[in-house]
Amino acid sequence: MSALLPLEQALQRVLAAASPAAASEEVPLLQARGRVLAQDLVSTLDVPAADNSAMDGYALRAAESGQALPITQRIAAGSVGTALAPGSAARIFTGADLPPGADAVAMQENCSEQDGVLRVQGALAPGDNVRPRGQDIQRGDRVLRAGRVLRPQDMGLAASIGLASVAVYRPLRVAVLSTGDELLEPGAGEPAAGQLYNSNRYTLAGLLDGLGMHCVDGGIVPDDPQATAGALRTAAEAADCVITTGGVSVGEEDHVKAQVQRLGRLDLWKLAIKPGKPLAFGEVLGTPFLGLPGNPSSVFVTFCLVARPFLLKLQGVDEPAAPRLTARAGFAVRRAGGRQDYQRVTLEAGPEGLLAQRFPNQSSGVLSSVSHSNALAVIPPGTTVAPGDTVEVLLLDLLTG
Ligand code: AMP
Ligand code: MG
Repeated sequence: MSALLPLEQALQRVLAAASPAAASEEVPLLQARGRVLAQDLVSTLDVPAADNSAMDGYALRAAESGQALPITQRIAAGSVGTALAPGSAARIFTGADLPPGADAVAMQENCSEQDGVLRVQGALAPGDNVRPRGQDIQRGDRVLRAGRVLRPQDMGLAASIGLASVAVYRPLRVAVLSTGDELLEPGAGEPAAGQLYNSNRYTLAGLLDGLGMHCVDGGIVPDDPQATAGALRTAAEAADCVITTGGVSVGEEDHVKAQVQRLGRLDLWKLAIKPGKPLAFGEVLGTPFLGLPGNPSSVFVTFCLVARPFLLKLQGVDEPAAPRLTARAGFAVRRAGGRQDYQRVTLEAGPEGLLAQRFPNQSSGVLSSVSHSNALAVIPPGTTVAPGDTVEVLLLDLLTG
């Protein structure tokens, strides 16, 4: 390992090596939430298909709105009117197509009707209270691009152009191996002296689930060269990407590096971020590999900052980066070191905007710092922060969903 590697450079290298891995499949639109579009969606229709009424009221010619107009027809949503004769009006309801000849709708609230004759208060202009044909979508429009993660409103949009199913990428399979002789699975009894429960497996399973990916669980891998090699081999054969936690530091019980090198290729970086220094990247038997640190908070942060963008690219996601937010610091940092510091903070709405309060213990082993926070405050290397200073913040909900 050499000098500290800035996060941006690590990300560049990782992303350069990622090409979409998954085949596509057609799924019913109702099951498409969170899936990644594998094709552009192009509309064959205008939406709305015709000029229609935005209000309950009366359809008429705007130029005639000052006249008394006999009401000659009634058009409810879903029914079709007939051509409107000059000097007449049609009772019309929200969503009904305008009859030919009409160019405006008078709101019911501004109208009086007596003996079948309409009078309108105030003048109308053509287009008033009309939703013009194609105002939402025009035939030939690309309504959503391939690479889009489908949100509920996108499902509605796809339905509005008549699609009942969409082509999406098959969910990525990501193998997770938790290395460490000290680890005990929750539910497998009381920890003996020196043991601790495997938490990384659960954090990563949840993070992968949030990305709509399948976690291929490789369980706990003992600190042993043969066991490590066997687990890596099995994982590489079963998954599109292998992620390990622990075992990439410089200790002699850290076997991941050597075994990945034997089975494939490995770069080992000291990332210039805190928490989360050691990070390994490479491949095992042709399958992409990411070796995260062991400390639970470091796992969370390195997953969010490096593994997540890498996996999203493998999954075929092509979306603009989340907007950057800022908040006022409710804390002080004196001369943060040579690494970019990701302080776990809680954002609160205050009179002067967002205020970031820091979790008191920022140690990389303290997972509570992540659970009891809703954002990461980014403190660049060598910066001093005073209370009230502006800091960049990353919302955890945007990183974990
Ligand atoms: P390592 O990088 O393997 O030396 O691990 C660094 C620290 O993280 C050690 O204190 C480990 O006990 C801890 N650790 C590693 N893996 C896990 C895990 N799966 N769950 C909880 N703590 C872990
Ligand atoms: Mg270890």
